[in-house]
Amino acid sequence: MNIKGICILGATGSIGVNTLDVVARHPDKYKVVALTANSNVSGLYEQCLMHQPEFAVMVDSNKAHALQDLIAQNAALTTQVLSGAEALAQVAELPQVHTVMAAIVGAAGLLPCLAAARAGKNVLLANKEALVMSGDIFMQTIAQSGAQLLPIDSEHNAIFQCMPAGYKTGAHEKIVRKILLTASGGPFRTTPLEDLPKVTPEQAIAHPNWVMGRKISVDSATMMNKGLEMIEACLLFNMQPEQIQIVIHPQSVIHSMVDYVDGSVLAQMGNPDMRIPIAHSLALPDRFDSGAEPLDIFAVKRMDFEAPDFDRFPCLRLAYDAIRAGGIMPTVLNAANEIAVDAFLTRQLRFTDIARIIEQTMQQFIVRSASTIAIILEVDHDARNIAKRLIEESNP
Ligand code: NAD
Ligand code: MG
Repeated sequence: MNIKGICILGATGSIGVNTLDVVARHPDKYKVVALTANSNVSGLYEQCLMHQPEFAVMVDSNKAHALQDLIAQNAALTTQVLSGAEALAQVAELPQVHTVMAAIVGAAGLLPCLAAARAGKNVLLANKEALVMSGDIFMQTIAQSGAQLLPIDSEHNAIFQCMPAGYKTGAHEKIVRKILLTASGGPFRTTPLEDLPKVTPEQAIAHPNWVMGRKISVDSATMMNKGLEMIEACLLFNMQPEQIQIVIHPQSVIHSMVDYVDGSVLAQMGNPDMRIPIAHSLALPDRFDSGAEPLDIFAVKRMDFEAPDFDRFPCLRLAYDAIRAGGIMPTVLNAANEIAVDAFLTRQLRFTDIARIIEQTMQQFIVRSASTIAIILEVDHDARNIAKRLIEESNP
């Protein structure tokens, strides 16, 4: 049997750990070729011991030395340690890598994602920021190389499972009316509005249904996560923003739905466990065990649905504004959001000021085409600087 090589970018994060859990259940299907992390030495070392990759990339060079020392002390471990951001792309392109799990958080994942796409890999994309910031260029790169792009977001995996075959070549255009993109509503769905300016990072990252990294947890609390996902859905499934209806569904049992012209609505359901979309994408066109608990439909009892409140969650409106404006605006939105979330997590910004900083940053840009990666990187850099300045100005 043909065992496929996998490279996991962001192996020590929440998605990385879940991916390794699934991969370890199927040694007859996948072999770990490369694992990468930013700076978590002990986490990556433990993963090297367990999964014996050929390569381990630690972006931080001092930390890479520390990892190298640990590995050198263990004669049974032959993993080669690389360091620096360029090494991320290098391992994603290796000929023995068939599948790349793109699970770095934020814009730092863009270049390695593009490298994997250019090299024609099976790209499992959790790193939604990379797609949102580079939009059409990312999709063109995938189309040109013949790479397979599989979304690792519970919602987009659900949509992927419910879309008609051939949607990539437009087969859905006359038959899919809209996508119903579900959202839990996060931890502040019912918090009194006057309490929102005071919420702490600890409260914001305590998501009711999912355990995730800090940045996406804050994005879920502001609902910018759903805004990014709406943009992601437009790009992945070739839909207009008007065709994406966000639906608050607090139980997170339905992971999204596709509404067809004949009145059929197809939904994908399951427990909130990221191993389900990961296993689905790794097993395609087959299915295999993910390790997730089976859904107990009787324990679910009921499912609720509400329209989103754009006043409570202004980041949703900003995301629709950005995709409708097009060009560089999604890049600006994403960059400003990354900076604002980081400032909130380090207690330099109030929760409710995240949306304000993003909006004010967007106002500093005139829409223009985002036709090259150089333009995207420049806009990303400029938007970050503007957002930082705006945050400093609000903290005299
Ligand atoms: P996380 O913070 O738990 O992990 C992030 C990973 O990226 C870590 O391995 C870290 O070492 C690495 N990393 C961070 N900064 C880096 C940098 N500058 N250079 C290189 N590597 C860097 O995040 P997560 O929750 O696993 O999320 C990862 C991505 O997946 C995000 O884009 C997120 O939106 C998306 N996603 C996550 C979930 C989830 O359930 N956690 C669900 C859907 C989508
Ligand atoms: Mg999601």
